[in-house]
Amino acid sequence: MKFVCIDCSRSYPVSDKAHYRCRCGGLLDTVHDFRSADPERWKRLFDERLSERNSPLSGGVWRYKELIHPELPAEAIVTKYEGNTGLYRGSETLRHYAGVRGLLLKAQSENPSGSFKDNGMTVAVSHGAALGYRRFACTSTGNTSSSMAMYAAVAEAESVVLLPARSVSRSKALQTEAYGATLIRTEGGYDEGIRFLDRYAEELDWYVCNSINPLRIEGQKSIVFELAHQLGWTLPDWVVVPGGALSNASALGKGLLELHRLGLIKRVPRIAVVQAEGASPFHRMLAADARTLTPEPRPGTVASALNIGHPPNWAKALRFAIDGANGVTASVSDADILEAKRLIDRSGIGCEPASAAALAGLRRLVAAGTIHPDETAVCILTGHLLKDADAIELALGRRSRPSTKTEVDEEGDGAPVPLTVEAIRTRIGTPGQAKP
Ligand SMILES: *Cc1c(COP(=O)(O)O)cnc(C)c1O
Ligand SMILES: [Zn+2]
Repeated sequence: MKFVCIDCSRSYPVSDKAHYRCRCGGLLDTVHDFRSADPERWKRLFDERLSERNSPLSGGVWRYKELIHPELPAEAIVTKYEGNTGLYRGSETLRHYAGVRGLLLKAQSENPSGSFKDNGMTVAVSHGAALGYRRFACTSTGNTSSSMAMYAAVAEAESVVLLPARSVSRSKALQTEAYGATLIRTEGGYDEGIRFLDRYAEELDWYVCNSINPLRIEGQKSIVFELAHQLGWTLPDWVVVPGGALSNASALGKGLLELHRLGLIKRVPRIAVVQAEGASPFHRMLAADARTLTPEPRPGTVASALNIGHPPNWAKALRFAIDGANGVTASVSDADILEAKRLIDRSGIGCEPASAAALAGLRRLVAAGTIHPDETAVCILTGHLLKDADAIELALGRRSRPSTKTEVDEEGDGAPVPLTVEAIRTRIGTPGQAKP
C-alpha cells in the first residue's frame, strides 16, 4: 500500500507521516497491492464478519479492512461501528417523481454522526492517531467537522475547525462543538480554508481530515462495498451521488472499479454526480467538454453541504467517476432540491437538502433521456434530516428564505479570525495549555 500522485505518479510511503499532496501539487491516491485473486474467499470473509459483535471489524467500513487500510493494526482502529446503513426501496411516490421503475435509497445519513463523512473519517482519524498526531483539523461546511470532532473525542485527542461563518447550519456547528472541538470562525469560506490547511497544517502539526486526505476516500469506498454486499454482489445500473468537494464521487468510482477488478462484481454501474446550480463547477466543466476546472468564485445554494466553488477532488472525480465509471453530471436548482427533500422526508426516510440533490438530479437525467425509465438507480442519501432544521421549514413552506447566520459564535468578541498562522496560534494556544 502506498500513496501515488495522480498527476506525476511519484509515490510516498503510508506510515512515516501525513501526506496529502505530491510535491507537484497533485492529489495523492492510495494504491493497494491486492494479492488474493479469489472473489469467493473475499465474500466468505465479509459474510463471516456480519455475525461478529463488538469487534472493530464488525462495522460497515472495517468489515472491508483488507480493501481499505490493510496495514493498520486492528488495535489502532477508532470506530463507532459506522456504515451498516439501511438500503430502502423507493416509495411509489419517489419512483414516480424520479421516473424510474427501480429505485433504491442508501441512507448514509444513518451513520453515527449523521452523515457519510463517518465512512471516511474513521479511517483518517485512526491513521492519524496511529501516526501520533494529537490535533485533528479541518475546514468544513459542517458534516466533516461533526464527524472529525466525534472521532477525535473517541480517540481522546483535540480537534480544531476552521468554520466558514456564513454557510454552516446551526445544528452542525453545535454538534461539532458538543463533541469538544475548538471552532474558529475564519475569514473566507471553505475554499480559503482548504488553501490554508494545504499550506500550513504541517507547520502547525495538525492532521488534516478534509478530503484532500487520501484515507478519507479509502473509507468512503465502503459505501459501494456495503451496497454491493447488501445486494448479493450485484448493483443497480446507476449510482447517483451529490457532488460538493467531490470526495464521494471519487470514492464511489474508485470503489466500484476495485470491486470489478477483484471479480466481486461483473459490471461497473454508471455514476451520476449531481451538483447544485449555484455551486456546479464540475458539471459546467463537463458540459463544456473541458478537462480543467474553472472554480466558482461565489458559490451559493440552499444545500450548504454542496456550497463549494473549488472542489479539491475534481481531478479524482474525473478519473474515477467520469472516466472510470462512465459517469455523467447534472445540476439542479434549489427549488428542485427542496421539492425532492420534501418527498424523501415524507416517505419516512428523510435527509438534508444536499442529499436530496441526488434524487432531483436523477429526475432531471431521466427527463433528459440520459437514464432510461427501465434502468435501476440507487441514490446515496448523504446526511440526516435533523442536520438542517432551517431547511425543514423551507421544505414545508413555513418560510421562504434560509437564515444566513450560523448563530454559533466562538468565545470572545466573535470577529472572524484572519487565516494566518499567527492569528490561529493565538486563538488556540499551544497543545496542553489553556486557551488564552
Ligand atoms: C459532504 C457532503 C456532501 C458532498 O460530498 P463531497 O464528497 O464533498 O462531494 C453531500 N451531502 C452531504 C450531506 C455532505 O455532508
Ligand atoms: Zn505529483
